[in-house]
Amino acid sequence: MAKDVLVLAEVYRDALADVTWELLAAGRTIASATGGQVLALVLGPNGAAHAPALGAADRIMVVDDPRLADYAPGPYVAALQEVTAAEQPRAVLLGATSIGWDVAPLLAARINAPLVTGCKEIQPEGEALRVATSFCGGKMMAEVRVDGAPAICMVLPGSFRPADAAGQAKIEPRKLPSPLEPGAVRFDGWVLPEAGDVDITQQDVLVSVGRGIQQKDNLELAENLAGALGGAVCASRPVIDQGWLPATRQVGKSGMTVKPKFYLALGISGAPEHQEGMKGADLIIAVNTDPQAPIFDIAHYGAEVDVLDLLPALTEAIEAKRG
Ligand SMILES: Cc1cc2nc3c(=O)[nH]c(=O)nc-3n(C[C@H](O)[C@H](O)[C@H](O)COP(=O)(O)OP(=O)(O)OC[C@H]3O[C@@H](n4cnc5c(N)ncnc54)[C@H](O)[C@@H]3O)c2cc1C
Repeated sequence: MAKDVLVLAEVYRDALADVTWELLAAGRTIASATGGQVLALVLGPNGAAHAPALGAADRIMVVDDPRLADYAPGPYVAALQEVTAAEQPRAVLLGATSIGWDVAPLLAARINAPLVTGCKEIQPEGEALRVATSFCGGKMMAEVRVDGAPAICMVLPGSFRPADAAGQAKIEPRKLPSPLEPGAVRFDGWVLPEAGDVDITQQDVLVSVGRGIQQKDNLELAENLAGALGGAVCASRPVIDQGWLPATRQVGKSGMTVKPKFYLALGISGAPEHQEGMKGADLIIAVNTDPQAPIFDIAHYGAEVDVLDLLPALTEAIEAKRG
């Protein structure tokens, strides 16, 4: 019976994605039940530089190849397929991230393996895995039993306590098949905040506006509050779709995932697609005139108030207090 668990250590612009340590924790849960090992796979030139941060893995494999310098599905799937064939793991874990969503289904199809998306819990059950999975943007949950190895599991970020133990695992170099089939999709470029714009994923305080802000001119009220709080303004998708803020300020499924210390949701209903990008915030305060708005289900505090009344008064009060 296959025992080991292979984890894709996701590298995003030369840094490991946070979900990597969650995957290592999930991998340990599975592997320890059968005495297997957790194998971390790092793809890309300079991959070995990430090894010290992967102490929670028993073995670290690195495919150091210029064709993996920037993400493209073809080389990624080829590398995963090669290592999966060599190691015969019980499960392959990837993050439910943009890269994971792209690669995991391709890998599953390529090697004819079962795929589970949106995994929130994974437990071994004999030779199978029992997986709690979330779908429809978090509206529905299902529990599935996955027979057959390897099971390809996409783990939802925020589902596992990250494993960040120090370790001594040696690096095992691996190779990409050469030549590769020409890929239909190539990397074009990162969409990054424009020069001078803020990176909302790095902010401790976010003042987030939704359709309840009503018109572009009212954004200034949110900017003033963000200034008083030392934070930045971000938004739900309709605000971005109207062109009132750049796409780099969008929070949610098709935008950024943020984890600030404080997230102030102003006039945002709290659709699952929005929640997906912000529910990991340490403190969420929601302001909405509708007491039934779903944002109140996940907010730590809420106020049933008109944001246009609140914003100037709150900014004034904070500025007065700060002198
Ligand atoms: C595939 C897909 C991907 C998506 N990706 C994203 C995403 O990344 N991010 C995202 O945000 N959405 C995303 N969406 C859209 C999402 O489903 C919602 O439509 C969107 O989040 C709603 O934005 P909203 O809360 O600002 O607007 P609404 O749902 O219209 O809510 C506005 C809220 O403001 C309140 N309000 C109105 N006036 C006031 C006032 N004066 N004071 C206080 N409250 C007021 C209302 O009561 C209401 O609750 C996606 C949808 C799909 C299908």
